[in-house]
Amino acid sequence: MKRSKIFLHPEKLNQITKDSYENWIFDLDNTLYDINLGLFQKVSERITLYIMDKLYLKKEYAERLQRKMFKEYGLTLRGLMLEKNIDPDSYLDFVHNVAHPELEVDSQLKNFLKKLQGKKFIYTNASKKHAINVMDGMGITDQFDDILDIKGTNYVPKPDPRSYKTMISKFKIVGEQLKRTVFFEDTAKNLKPAKKMGLSTVWIENNFNHQDYELNEKFIDFKCNNIKDFFNSISLDI
Ligand SMILES: [Mg+2]
Repeated sequence: MKRSKIFLHPEKLNQITKDSYENWIFDLDNTLYDINLGLFQKVSERITLYIMDKLYLKKEYAERLQRKMFKEYGLTLRGLMLEKNIDPDSYLDFVHNVAHPELEVDSQLKNFLKKLQGKKFIYTNASKKHAINVMDGMGITDQFDDILDIKGTNYVPKPDPRSYKTMISKFKIVGEQLKRTVFFEDTAKNLKPAKKMGLSTVWIENNFNHQDYELNEKFIDFKCNNIKDFFNSISLDI
C-alpha cells in the first residue's frame, strides 16, 4: 500500500502557522522518533523480564500477562499495580534502564520545534527519566517547557480522562486556550479524550497502529507518518 505523507485535511494544514497554537503537546515514544528504531521493543522486552522475575513466570506466560494488562488497562504498569501489587518506581527504573545508542541528534526536528511559538510539552505514559534520556539522545531536551510523566498523573495513564485533567492543570491550560492547543500521538485512542476537551489532534501513523485508528478516526484532525512531515506541511516560516 502506498501511503501519502499527509492524507487527512491537507487543505487545513496550509492554514496552520507557527503561532496557530498556544500549546503544543507531544507524546514521546513512537511519536517524536520513528517506531522502526526499535526503542520501544527493547523496553517491552525488559517489561517481560521484570514480570518473569517478580511473578516467577516463564517467558511465555509473562508475555501473555503483559499483553493482557496492556489491552485491559492501556498501560501494562497500571494493570500490574492494580492486579499484582507491583511497585511502580522499581518497575519504571527497571524497564527503562536501557541505553539507546541508535538515537541520533535530530537537528531537523529541533529546528522545527524552535520555530514554534507558544509552549511545548511532553505528555507520556512512561517515566520522566526515560523521556529525558530519549530527548537528550535526540538533542531536543531544551526545546520543551515541561514534562508530565506517569508518576505525575499518579500512575493513571492515557487514555483515562483523569490523566488529561491532571495534564491541563499541570500545563495551566484553561478555558479558551484548550481550542488553541494541539496534541500529537501515535496511539489513536489517546487522542479521543483530548479531542473531546477541544484540543486539535494529530495522529502519527506507523505499521502497527491502524486497528486503533479505525476505532478513533473521528477524533483525529490530522494524520501523517512522521512528525516532521507535519511540520514540513505547515507554514512555519510565516
Ligand atoms: Mg506513543
